[in-house]
Amino acid sequence: MDKLRFVDEKEGEIPAGKIICVGKNYLAHAREMEGIAPKEPVLFLKPRSSLIGDGEDIILPEMSKLVHHELEIAVIIGRRGKRIDEKEALTHIHGYALFLDITARDLQSEAKKKGLPWTISKGFDTFSVISDIVLVKDIPEPQDIRFDLHINGELRQKGYTGDMIFDITKLISHISKIMTLEPGDIIATGTPEGVSAIKAGDVLKSNMASLVSMTNCVRREQRF
Ligand code: MG
Repeated sequence: MDKLRFVDEKEGEIPAGKIICVGKNYLAHAREMEGIAPKEPVLFLKPRSSLIGDGEDIILPEMSKLVHHELEIAVIIGRRGKRIDEKEALTHIHGYALFLDITARDLQSEAKKKGLPWTISKGFDTFSVISDIVLVKDIPEPQDIRFDLHINGELRQKGYTGDMIFDITKLISHISKIMTLEPGDIIATGTPEGVSAIKAGDVLKSNMASLVSMTNCVRREQRF
């Protein structure tokens, strides 16, 4: 998937940019991962080739025996910026989307033990699932968004953006000190607690309040 789609069809599409993810941005999730609240945002990147959209299948790779869901709110950048002031941060946002940061947890744990990067565990094709974009005008208060994930009809994750350790303005300001943010860039703002395994045949339904939802099925990798 190379293009990000808008809920408001009149806006058309924009090319997807880089995917910047924030780790441990909700205290309860940091604790469930046996971690503590970080002093500054934990950042990592996912490849653009991992992106899929609403209705596309999440594929479990042969290399992993334990794949987890992490439902997050993504910020879509609309205006280029470097060293963005927190006060200006919201003016750089084009919209918001649901984002599933799919993670091969067993490979991530191995990497953590060895002090290696998380790239493999986070980088498989189909491991970044993004919904249609809700335009910024429809979300006046981004720290007041509720979102949830149901798997096969059962509630598995429930989040509230007001619980973030680093809010969206802080994230944009901090990230833009390191890398220029460009239109189409995606910032996945971290997952709340409740991460757990997905298996072939599961149906994931993600919702951002009543603003946007997406549905994705899970299947195993097949080689021909
Ligand atoms: Mg995540």
